[in-house]
Amino acid sequence: MTILYAADPEDAEGWIGSIRALDPQLTFATWPDWGDPDAIDFIIVGGRMPGDLSIFQNAKAIQSTWAGVNHLLKGKFPPGVPIARMVDQGLSANMVEYLVYWVLDALRQGRELRAAQREAKWLELPLRWARNFPVGILGLGTLGAATAAKLVELGFPVRGWSRTAKSVAGVESFHGADQLHDFLAPLKLLICLLPLTPETEGVLDAKLFAGLPEGAILVNAGRGGHTNEADLIAALDSGKLAYAVLDVFREEPLPLDHVFWRRKDIVITPHVASITRAGTGAADILENYRRALAGEPLLNPVDPQRGY
Ligand code: NDP
Repeated sequence: MTILYAADPEDAEGWIGSIRALDPQLTFATWPDWGDPDAIDFIIVGGRMPGDLSIFQNAKAIQSTWAGVNHLLKGKFPPGVPIARMVDQGLSANMVEYLVYWVLDALRQGRELRAAQREAKWLELPLRWARNFPVGILGLGTLGAATAAKLVELGFPVRGWSRTAKSVAGVESFHGADQLHDFLAPLKLLICLLPLTPETEGVLDAKLFAGLPEGAILVNAGRGGHTNEADLIAALDSGKLAYAVLDVFREEPLPLDHVFWRRKDIVITPHVASITRAGTGAADILENYRRALAGEPLLNPVDPQRGY
């Protein structure tokens, strides 16, 4: 019985070491040195699909070290094999920090103050209240709900939008296409934390931006495929959006000649909002290995039909 580590090679030592620290008896192989494919009973994948996994006919589960699995679902798997994604305390904590950081920067007008300082201008802006600064989160799942809870704690009116109805303390919840427009109407700042699926591809488009108030701010920490790039540029040019903070891009790293690099109204962070840490994620992987061998349902299962 062998676990095949087929995730990012630079993280192999950390993941295998952390899992082995919990169970020293486990046997690992690393991609592409798997030996007999029939001996592989569990596969760990990461930020890219390593290759054709359908040759591992005895694999009982595939475990992603990433929360977003859109890139993996395009790959080839043994038929019917269950797939699990990562839900990790460290990942949630980092995402909450990243988003709260940009929301507070927007509330306190960090962009305007930095611009004023560059011109040696003493800019006394009127102080604003969090309670008058509605924030909306597209995707009220693990990361969206954790971010919403922290923003509620800080006094922001928070709205969340998801596929199905949700109940999160202090958050005004909306769901489905019919409620998207109402959700957007009062927002000062919109966060995207959706998974990338055929339904959510290009969701950040002209139609959505039109539903926001003039001068709203966009923060996309979901996936680059959510952004309709031409519509984003048009919304910035027209003043519909004041500026955008983007952590994720259709092509990563963002190509050097991409127009986003040259925009003063786009803040680029290089897909660093959050990562899974082996130290905190290993226990769930081990639990899923145990469940897979016992034929039990996995923690944090992915529904390939739904796409997340
Ligand atoms: P979850 O699966 O827990 O939550 C996804 C949320 O999106 C759910 O509320 C779901 O609604 C909603 N959703 C999905 N499809 C639709 C739709 N068509 N319309 C409306 N709502 C929809 O995911 P996580 O919170 O763990 O992660 C979210 C995403 O964050 C990841 O998929 C990834 O893309 C991104 N991410 C980015 C990172 C970064 O560093 N930038 C790091 C980690 C993740 P419902 O519950 O009703 O189905």
